[in-house]
Amino acid sequence: MQATKNADLHCHSKFSDGALPPAELVRRAQRNGVEIFALTDHDHLGGLPEAALEAARLGLQFIPGVEISVSWLDQTIHVVGLGIDPDNRELQAGLAQVRSGRDARAREMSAALEKVGVKDAYAGAMRYVANPALIGRSHFARYLVECGYAKTPGEVFAHYLVPGKPGFVEQTWARLDEALGWIAGAGGLAVLAHPGRYRLSNAQLEEFLVAFKAGGGVGIEVCTGAHDEAATRRFATVARRYGFLASRASDFHAPGESETDLGGAPELPPDLEPVWARLT
Ligand code: AMP
Ligand code: MN
Ligand code: MN
Ligand code: MN
Repeated sequence: MQATKNADLHCHSKFSDGALPPAELVRRAQRNGVEIFALTDHDHLGGLPEAALEAARLGLQFIPGVEISVSWLDQTIHVVGLGIDPDNRELQAGLAQVRSGRDARAREMSAALEKVGVKDAYAGAMRYVANPALIGRSHFARYLVECGYAKTPGEVFAHYLVPGKPGFVEQTWARLDEALGWIAGAGGLAVLAHPGRYRLSNAQLEEFLVAFKAGGGVGIEVCTGAHDEAATRRFATVARRYGFLASRASDFHAPGESETDLGGAPELPPDLEPVWARLT
């Protein structure tokens, strides 16, 4: 029964690279039929009090969350922490450290884009940023769409902002063991975000999953806006094989930009144990 609940345990507000204020996300989630909702901004907890307040006002079950940027091998991996205590000092300090390099990276990205003819991208991206501590690639993507370099942010990513493309700048985020430690220390459950998105070989993915589980990771997103049906089946199998709890999430960022709206991810396969069963 629980697997059929409309849970949405991963999305973004203006505190990172989403477009909406936290309270508006909560209202949108409820309008869309969401029954359990988590806000999981990148590397930042600032939106959680506003979301919690609005969810309480509306009687919507709210889970405080965060999506931590992790460097593993030469890849960026995202680990979602669910049910974390937003007042936990070690988590707060860890996240402050993770995001501390973002401004310098954004300036480097701007200089790199200048070399291929994109002018003033730092200032341009900043116009899409509500929380300067969290300037990121999505803000650049929106600015480049505005300038006509591509029709959608996704196209900007493909041509400018991914490894091998002119605006990509290498960044070192948290270590996996650090991120897992902060989440566990703050009383949360660690869930691997959108596993289908990473460019890992099967062997690398297995190596990662073993390390993730050994470090305390307990869940993976099986049904997410980032997965097609094949990826959903593949990661349902991974969840069964590793005994991971399964999560369901839109990874919603912005109306008109995110293909999957809040509450719009497919239902979990009924045999998987939903992560929210451990959060309520
Ligand atoms: P950053 O943390 O600055 O490296 O930005 C990562 C964010 O960029 C992700 O959370 C997504 O919101 C967005 N993103 C990454 N890859 C893509 C893509 N291919 N298309 C659209 N957005 C993407
Ligand atoms: Mn994002
Ligand atoms: Mn992510
Ligand atoms: Mn996300």
